[in-house]
Amino acid sequence: MKDIESLARRGLKDMEPYLPSPPAGGIKLDANESPWNLPENIRRKLIRWLEDAENLNRYPETGSTALRASIAQHWGVSPSNITCGVGSDQLIDMICRVFLESGDCVTTFRPTFGMYAATAELNHGRAVSVPVGYDARAARELLGAALENGAKIIFLCSPNNPTGRAMSDAAVRLVLEDAECVVVIDEAYADFMGTSFAGRILEYPNAIVIRTFSKAYGLAGIRVGYAIADERAIELINKAKPPFNIPAISQLLAEWAMDEADEFASRAKSLASARDRLIETLASIDWLDAEPSDANFVLLTSRFDIMPALLSGGVRARDFGAHDGVRRVRVTVGTNEENKKVGDLLCAARPK
Ligand code: PMP
Repeated sequence: MKDIESLARRGLKDMEPYLPSPPAGGIKLDANESPWNLPENIRRKLIRWLEDAENLNRYPETGSTALRASIAQHWGVSPSNITCGVGSDQLIDMICRVFLESGDCVTTFRPTFGMYAATAELNHGRAVSVPVGYDARAARELLGAALENGAKIIFLCSPNNPTGRAMSDAAVRLVLEDAECVVVIDEAYADFMGTSFAGRILEYPNAIVIRTFSKAYGLAGIRVGYAIADERAIELINKAKPPFNIPAISQLLAEWAMDEADEFASRAKSLASARDRLIETLASIDWLDAEPSDANFVLLTSRFDIMPALLSGGVRARDFGAHDGVRRVRVTVGTNEENKKVGDLLCAARPK
């Protein structure tokens, strides 16, 4: 018998799998999820639907037609400008599969969401990054790196995970106007700042906005994301869409959630205010810095280890370890009670 490892693709052994945090207990502020359950009316609708659920013996509708119609209406575009994925993770994969050939480059900022590089590599590509920035100068550097490497895709994450800040509108437009390749704007956290390129993305035929129900809509458990782009871009992306990718119940819940967009926008607004209050509290601590944020999380940096103080109170945050002597921890904005706990734990800590 051949050793199974010897049968795997060349290079796979050296690839780092993307490891999300494990689903253990504690105060979970490590994955930028919403702290709140679904609105009562959506839960009631689901219960009523389950009471006489039909057709779960059948495959779901493959084109997520009703859901796409409701997303399209929300953004003032046509359903043919939309495709849905099993989370935006699947859209990132579909986009890489469609546009990358062996050795092709994707360009990103660093640090940013790890799935762009991991997915590009899994699809036989490679990632080149430049230090993150938010203004026109950073946009030009990104464009320069993309051009130099003949990049096929630029991934812009705005607001950026894990730093939290969004690129200026002018900087994003500069990338959209000057890029010679596909530009993906990942707006996973855009609801927390209330602005989006979704409504104007059709002006740029090479650009794609991706969004998710996992963050501001509090539906990480149903795994639905969507892409908005020119019809021809959507047709291409759909070549990599597995049939029946979105489960029937996920389609329904996402559609009902889209109908409550105003409620989720107001929830996002109140999380943004809670985030600002948390940053204000943390500003009084002399041994750490809380970065400005446009998202539902805050990046903490320090010469000291931040995790022990959080863990001592059962708070789980995302630890990015130390680089050049600087430790970085990302903490999600939770309920007011949870945020107070984070503030209290860090204010009381005396790291050595
Ligand atoms: N983009 C960014 C920037 C993210 O932080 C995440 C989740 N951590 C995703 C995309 C993926 O989200 P999902 O697959 O749940 O839609």
